[in-house]
Amino acid sequence: KLHNDIVDLKGNIRVMVRMRPLLANEPGCGQLPTHVQFPDDQKVVIQSGKNSVQHEFQRVFTPHDNQAAVFGQLGELIQSALHGFNVTILAYGQTGSGKTFTMQGGNSEVTMGLIPRAVRLIFSAKQELAELGWKYDLSVSFLEIYNEECRDLLVSGTDKLDIKVGSGQVKIPDLSEHPVVEAGQVFHLLSLADAKRSVGATKCNSQSSRSHAIFKLRIAGSNDTTGETCSATLNLVDLAGSERLKESGAEGARLVETQHINTALSNLQNVIRAQWKKTGHVPYRNSKLTLVLQDALGAGTSKTLMIVNVSPLLDFAEETRRSLEFAAQTS
Ligand code: ADP
Ligand code: MG
Repeated sequence: KLHNDIVDLKGNIRVMVRMRPLLANEPGCGQLPTHVQFPDDQKVVIQSGKNSVQHEFQRVFTPHDNQAAVFGQLGELIQSALHGFNVTILAYGQTGSGKTFTMQGGNSEVTMGLIPRAVRLIFSAKQELAELGWKYDLSVSFLEIYNEECRDLLVSGTDKLDIKVGSGQVKIPDLSEHPVVEAGQVFHLLSLADAKRSVGATKCNSQSSRSHAIFKLRIAGSNDTTGETCSATLNLVDLAGSERLKESGAEGARLVETQHINTALSNLQNVIRAQWKKTGHVPYRNSKLTLVLQDALGAGTSKTLMIVNVSPLLDFAEETRRSLEFAAQTS
C-alpha cells in the first residue's frame, strides 16, 4: 500500500552531519581530527575554546563513512518520492567541506555521490512497482541560483529565469524539462550541467561554490489497476558555501554575493523551522532558494533532509562549530 508513511510533527525534517576525511595533501591524512569526537553514530562533540559541546542528530557520518554508507541511510527516503512524497535533500556547509562530493561525487562506483545513486535507485524501484500496476513519467530539470538570479543548467545561454507565483503555486515557465526513461539519460544531462557550471566558474571566479544548484526529478505515477495517481518532486540541492568571509576580504561583488547567500541560508532555516513548528507564517518569499523549493518544503506530503558537511581541518574549527550549531538549530 502506498502512502503508508506516518509523518509526525518532526518526522519530515531530518538533519544529518558528515565530516569528510583529511585529504592526501592535508596534515594528519588517514587520521581522525583531534578537536572533534564521535561518541556514537548520532553524536558529535566539538572542542570550542576550553569547553566541549555535544550535538545530537538523526545521524552523524564520520570521515570513515563512504558514499555507500551515507546512501544506505537515504534509500527509503528517496524511494518515498515514488509514493507521492516531495523529497528534498540539501547539502549545507562551507566551501571545501564535501557538499559536491556528497551530492555528485566522483566517477567510480565507489565514489559516485547521492544524485547518481538516487537516480539509479528510482529507476530500479520504478521497475519493481511496475509489477503492482504503477507506471511513471519522469523528467529532469536542473537550475542554479547565483546572486538571487536563476539560470537553467540544461540549456545553453545565460538567460535569467522568471519565477511566477500565482494561487499559492510557484512556476518557472521557461525552465527546461527533460523526459527521461533510463538512468543513462539522466547521467548525460548531469554531465551537461556540470560542464555549464564549470564554464561559469572560470568566468566568474569560483562562482560554483557561491551558487545553489538544484536538481529536480519530477515523478508522475498512475496505476491502471487501482486507479490511483501520485506526483512528487525529488529535489537534490548543493547549496552555496556557508562560510563567513573575512571582513577585509568581502568588498564589492564578493560582499553582495555573501549577503545573498547569508540571506538565503538563514531564510532556508527559518522556513524549515516555521514548518515543523507549524507556525502560521512561512517566509518563503524572502529568497529565491526557498521560493523555488516552496512546493517541496511545504505541506504534509514533503520530507526534508539537510546534510550538514563539515571540514576536519583544525584551521576551520570555528566554521565547523558554526555549521554544527546551524544544524542543531535546524533539527
Ligand atoms: P564543497 O563542494 O563543499 O566545496 P567538495 O565536495 O568540493 O567541497 O570537497 C572538497 C575536496 O574534498 C574535494 O577534493 C573532494 O573530492 C574531497 N572530498 C570531500 N568529501 C570527501 C569524502 N567523503 N571522501 C573523500 N574525499 C572527499
Ligand atoms: Mg562544491
